[in-house]
Amino acid sequence: MSARYQGIGVSPGTAVGPVARVQGPSLPARDGRAVDVAEETARAEEALDAVAEELAALADRAGASGAVLTRQARMSRDPSLGALVLQFVRTGRTAPRAAWEAFGAYRDMRESDPLRGAPDAAELDDVRDRVVARLLGEAPPSIPDPGTPFVLVARDLSPAVTASLDASRVLALVTERGGPTSHTAVLAKALGIPAVVGCPGVAALAGGQRVAVDGDAGVVTADPDAELVGALARRRGAAERLADAAPDGPGRTRDGRSVPLLAAVGGKGDVDDALAAGAEGVGVFRTEFCFLDRAQPPTVAEQASAYREVFDAFAGRPVTVRTLDVGADKPVSFVRLGDQPNPALGVRGLRVARRHPQLLDDQLAAIARAARESSADVRVMAPMVATTAEAAWFATRARAAGVGTTGVMVEIPAAALRAGDLLQVVDFVSVGSNDLAQYAFATDREDGELADLLDPWQPAFLDLVATVLRAGAMASRAVTVCGEAASDPWLAAVLVGLGAAGLSMAPRSIPVVRAALAQVTSQQCADAAAAVLSADGPEEGRARAAQILAPGANVIN
Ligand code: PEP
Ligand code: MG
Repeated sequence: MSARYQGIGVSPGTAVGPVARVQGPSLPARDGRAVDVAEETARAEEALDAVAEELAALADRAGASGAVLTRQARMSRDPSLGALVLQFVRTGRTAPRAAWEAFGAYRDMRESDPLRGAPDAAELDDVRDRVVARLLGEAPPSIPDPGTPFVLVARDLSPAVTASLDASRVLALVTERGGPTSHTAVLAKALGIPAVVGCPGVAALAGGQRVAVDGDAGVVTADPDAELVGALARRRGAAERLADAAPDGPGRTRDGRSVPLLAAVGGKGDVDDALAAGAEGVGVFRTEFCFLDRAQPPTVAEQASAYREVFDAFAGRPVTVRTLDVGADKPVSFVRLGDQPNPALGVRGLRVARRHPQLLDDQLAAIARAARESSADVRVMAPMVATTAEAAWFATRARAAGVGTTGVMVEIPAAALRAGDLLQVVDFVSVGSNDLAQYAFATDREDGELADLLDPWQPAFLDLVATVLRAGAMASRAVTVCGEAASDPWLAAVLVGLGAAGLSMAPRSIPVVRAALAQVTSQQCADAAAAVLSADGPEEGRARAAQILAPGANVIN
């Protein structure tokens, strides 16, 4: 019988092909022989330095993931890591074994470091594997080349490994670890290839073994039978036909209701994809991504220039800039938030401005300056707003800085329930579906094990979205939806039915959402929305929406 592995589908589509595994180094043995401490020390120091240089060189060439690689290079140069390695060598370990154990001790040390916090596990493991491989004389972790297109399977994928990825040869990505916002998920979406993350058990898959990957349902099947392969191929065909049918031009339903399709961008690196996809503007400019690698806060001039690069690409079009959303899953070295019992529920997003108001004021000044110098229609919004008072406080500061149109994201259920009040003090609100789901279901968005609770087809989540959209309609204000929910083509139609006036998504998702909307009428969207809200759960919601939006098609998983 075929083994079936359930994970989280983070990038849609299906693929069938042979497994290729990312190879890590062998586990260095504890050999117990006497070691030459001076020699092993020198070897370990050389390996840490060489790996730091290798990562720094990769960072220079890497574009968007350069910040992560720079952070990894810094880990390799961290004196406290070096000291731990030497400590293990002095207790009689060979350099590779000492490095292996020192990385474990370093992780423990960082976990209890209130200022720096724990490093990302995949990033740290990758640095360790590079150092250990070098000391063992083995190749650094890399993507094998089996000579044919393959399904890449790994425990976790680090940017350092994926920097060498030839996307034309990768059919799908599967990782044992990681959640919906992991590096693998972001990468797969950017490349437009199916991906399943947080998939326990896939370590058992052998190189060369044939697997079927269903990036919509999050399922990986080993040695799939002909029936499953046929069903996936039919689905792929239907999805491709849908994408091929994508009309050019602005997003609209079949009966002509306009639904602007906007791009989520993290800086200049995403602009080309957004423009190529026909984005009608930027729905959320995640400004923190411009500065993830910075040890010191960026100056007003540096920020203004980074923002101009995006504004200029969208001259005459709307660009909604989000002020820094740092903390929790997006730590940055230039804002130390200390040890918080639960960072996702602590000081992050706009709350950082309670401690560092100047950081916000500088950013608002930079946005206002860049907006004055460009002809984009710039708006600014704050992340992680819970109350009307916070929204009013933000709007006052933004207007004082000279940013004309100010808004807030609705990512916290309290804000969703009071969206009408928020609209009295700001010009617009935008639903942040990723965090709204996380906070509505008390489920960490990084936690793959609980991903079913974050399914955006959950009726309770859609109730909250509907509440915000109704408040927008009452106030005659257009409300957009951003976050991953809008990139599911049929859920996008449901959101339109609930009243969304625009949708923001990863650039690669825009064509397929445009195609889906062009096939349905506003009435179908409204009927699907009503059907989904009265469903018992996500599966029933999907099935009901499918019947209304795409009768006969099998593209809704
Ligand atoms: C969201 O929460 O939906 C959102 C768009 O913000 P981010 O994913 O950057 O937290
Ligand atoms: Mg968010």
